[in-house]
Amino acid sequence: MNDFDLLVVGSANADLVIGVERRPAAGETVLGSDLAVHPGGKGANQAVAAARLGARTALLARVGDDAHGRLLLESQRAAGVDTGGVLTGGAPTGVALITVDPSGDNSIVVSPGANARLTPQDVRAAAGLLAAARVVSAQLEVPLETVAEVVRTRAAGSRFVLNPSPPGPLPADVLAACDPLVLNEHEALFMLADSDTDVDGDGPGGDGGDAGGHAEDDPEDWARELLALGARSVVVTMGARGALVAEGGPDAATVRVPSPRVDAVDTTGAGDAFTAALAWRLSLGEDLVKAAAFAVRVGAAAVTKEGAQASFPTAAEVSAL
Ligand code: ADP
Repeated sequence: MNDFDLLVVGSANADLVIGVERRPAAGETVLGSDLAVHPGGKGANQAVAAARLGARTALLARVGDDAHGRLLLESQRAAGVDTGGVLTGGAPTGVALITVDPSGDNSIVVSPGANARLTPQDVRAAAGLLAAARVVSAQLEVPLETVAEVVRTRAAGSRFVLNPSPPGPLPADVLAACDPLVLNEHEALFMLADSDTDVDGDGPGGDGGDAGGHAEDDPEDWARELLALGARSVVVTMGARGALVAEGGPDAATVRVPSPRVDAVDTTGAGDAFTAALAWRLSLGEDLVKAAAFAVRVGAAAVTKEGAQASFPTAAEVSAL
């Protein structure tokens, strides 16, 4: 009997947001709106999204011994996340400094802070927590060596879900554990451009598509290439167009899962809500296509409200969509 449907291992940030008429140029000072502080970070977001849907969720993360860390812990607990695995200290809580202009364009500076101090040793020390989860989900806002240790330490029968964000090269054992690799179109293109493997054997840039030779608009092709690189399964999210599921080897058939049509207000955190929902439904034993069909509804519900964590729906809100 597992204690948790889902363990999220990842980042927790305070998002510090200031509205400005114009984003400052080098050497310039501009006046802005009152400061707004929101709990964020992909790990914290995924954990809140899953718990709000009703998943038994735990978070393994690191925050500073400071006011931002307390804000993050409070928001996790308010959503019902088990925070016994949230470590404190070592550096200030991670922060994203965000300026937003009236057109919605932003400039962001991220200080990873305590997120960068979540170590492989922290993961080994949390082996009991890892053993208690059916599904373990991670992103790349904590050190890659920490994510690699999660893959090694998790329970043999557990399922590993990775959102490679921010995208970067993955060691073969991490990629081979991803079931699925969940990524948006930008991340998919980045991951493939970054791999110089001729995965489809048709020569560099051949018409089957590979590093440097991708059809810019063919998510089916990307998904098959990511399978060929070693992922066990792949889910590409495509904004208002929903998601694409591929599993079963490089010759796999791909399945498109459309998203409900909604009036999008703010897409911040949509991918985190999607991934959390998908991971939870997989923990209940649903197959990948069915889990994705639920997750697109959760992502769509999340874009109908402002903010990231504030926009994540309950199961009742998803049913009402
Ligand atoms: P990310 O936030 O990582 O860029 P996406 O933009 O692909 O990810 O969004 C994730 C999911 O959220 C999509 O698969 C879809 O279900 C939902 N979604 C995002 N934008 C919209 C939209 N404009 N209308 C409906 N659903 C959306």
